[in-house]
Amino acid sequence: MRMSDVTLILLAAGGSTRFGLAAKKQWLYQDEKPLWLKVADDFRENFEFAEIVIVAPPSETGYMGLFCGDRIVSGGNSRSESLANALEDIRTPYALVNDIARCCLDIEMIKGILSRKGEADVIVPALKVVDTVYYGDKAVDRDKIKMIQTPQLSRTDILAKALAAAAEFTDESSAVAAIGGSVRFVNGSQAAQKLTTLDDLRRLPCLSPPSSRTFAGFGIDTHAFEEGRSMLLGGVKIDAPFGYRAHSDGDVLIHALIDALLGAAGMGDIGEHFPDTDESYAGADSTELLEEVMSLIRGVGLEPAHVDLTILTETPRLSGYKGAMRSSLAKIMNISERNINIKATTSEKMGFIGRKEGTTVHAVATLGYYNWMKEIS
Ligand code: MG
Repeated sequence: MRMSDVTLILLAAGGSTRFGLAAKKQWLYQDEKPLWLKVADDFRENFEFAEIVIVAPPSETGYMGLFCGDRIVSGGNSRSESLANALEDIRTPYALVNDIARCCLDIEMIKGILSRKGEADVIVPALKVVDTVYYGDKAVDRDKIKMIQTPQLSRTDILAKALAAAAEFTDESSAVAAIGGSVRFVNGSQAAQKLTTLDDLRRLPCLSPPSSRTFAGFGIDTHAFEEGRSMLLGGVKIDAPFGYRAHSDGDVLIHALIDALLGAAGMGDIGEHFPDTDESYAGADSTELLEEVMSLIRGVGLEPAHVDLTILTETPRLSGYKGAMRSSLAKIMNISERNINIKATTSEKMGFIGRKEGTTVHAVATLGYYNWMKEIS
């Protein structure tokens, strides 16, 4: 079989700033797949490419690599920069570029684009405008107006040249046209509209709800007592003559919880995210680390369902603090207190806990996919 001479580039490096949800739009789950993977798989199932290259936010490339065997490339500060990064290692003469926000593929339209390969430097789907169009206070001839869509099929070398030459462009055709390249328009598709606002979630025909699957994660942390430090557990100041020896503020409860959350999300451990060799985390406020982990987890379309924490310590007595810890954690995590359980126990005077040398916390967290459907019903 002849190898395809087209590379598919999917642009998924955007921050979804216009979207207004905690989850980035490329991470809204469709059944068991984040949106970006659904788009990649839809292309894969219908067309043959030499390679699929996915451009991702630099902080997410490693995580995305766990989902697929496609090449994941770090995005830049703009669409053009991201695309230029993706083009660097492409060997095929043609590149089909699609924004991940164009998540509903019109297979016939894309077949039409690919069948015109080589007829111009870039083949572009465009929609006619059916409404009256004004420019300022003057109606213009709408037959001369086109709304440009993706995917666009470009000659790789000319597209690379166009991106190197030019300032910021919002699509390939305008960059190629700016250096005098040829542009061929084909009929676009209403089905291939872009996911930009929450309202689009309601309108786009190909979206489906996330599955109700859940993931459990376990975390454990131990810190030794140290005099002259204040004791913090779950962000709550505990009345005790000592605190915990630590590089950070020593909030052993939050550290165990963070590891449980990262575990459920498949995101490694607390040391990878906040290394204690990094001086910027000296004396770190653990509640801020927890906030950061929450936004990381929510950003990739996950939502905590429940956490259960067990504190093993001989001293001090913590029963009077459980309510305060729960409400503190609920506030930081932005989940209901009902979904946080805190238990405290001793080790019956045995071992280092029994000798009152320190405290261990065990944490279990359950995450589900963020149910974005509830935002639109
Ligand atoms: Mg710790």
